[in-house]
Amino acid sequence: MSLLQVDGLVKRYGNFTATDHFSVSVEPGEIHAVIGPNGAGKSTLIGQLAGELIPDNGKIYFAGDDITRLSVEKRARLGLARSYQITSVLPEYTALENVLLAVNAQRGSRFGCWTRLAARHDVLDEALALLEQTGLAGHADACVAEMAHGEHRQLELAMALATHPRLLLLDEPMAGMSQTETVQMTAQLQALKGSHAMLLVEHDMDAVFALADRITVLVYGKALITGSPDEIRANPAVRAAYLGDEQSAPNLSRSVA
Ligand code: ADP
Ligand code: MG
Repeated sequence: MSLLQVDGLVKRYGNFTATDHFSVSVEPGEIHAVIGPNGAGKSTLIGQLAGELIPDNGKIYFAGDDITRLSVEKRARLGLARSYQITSVLPEYTALENVLLAVNAQRGSRFGCWTRLAARHDVLDEALALLEQTGLAGHADACVAEMAHGEHRQLELAMALATHPRLLLLDEPMAGMSQTETVQMTAQLQALKGSHAMLLVEHDMDAVFALADRITVLVYGKALITGSPDEIRANPAVRAAYLGDEQSAPNLSRSVA
């Protein structure tokens, strides 16, 4: 049984069909990348999987359960986590404090005071381990507002991991990262592979081809093809799908070449 099974998903914005009978599956431990030109419907897909957007048609199954109409919170409790944008992070607190909160929230405990929270060694140990895992061990006491963009993305990943997800939904985790940061994030995701399945939306084709077990190409809300990285590389329709997309075309040609 697939960990995630998406069948015939449809999402319309008025007359415009952003997700057009889209189906995909993610196996336990698999990294399944979804690539496609700007406006293809990748974020709309992630939104429906996370529970922020309700599809007009189709079904989403997680570990066999129909989760199509479940809230974001209920999906998170089942082990489906989205790496959120920095808006969900408290900028005036340190990286460690943010991760402590995320770990604490997962454990369902209610502590109102930082000192008591940090004094709970199990919570503290887990938070420090998450910072280590996401390359932020040296930034535990850094104020989030003063951290670099790439470090914010690492922090978002740490906070998503605090929920002990079985499937991570990642919407362009490398967006706005420097080359060095992208390489680091790729290595961190690689290290999480196996213990966490991922549905990865990403524009950086080097990262996609390095990480993905399977790749689905999304064009105009439809799945054009699903295949191994080699199959996707060799497919002429994939290249054609990127023509006219200024941002993606150079990346893809670089990796396809
Ligand atoms: P991607 O993430 O692949 O760039 P999106 O899922 O963000 O694409 O958007 C897919 C299409 O749906 C785009 O044409 C976008 O303009 C449109 N769209 C996205 N969100 C909305 C919305 N809330 N209302 C109307 N159209 C939307
Ligand atoms: Mg998007």
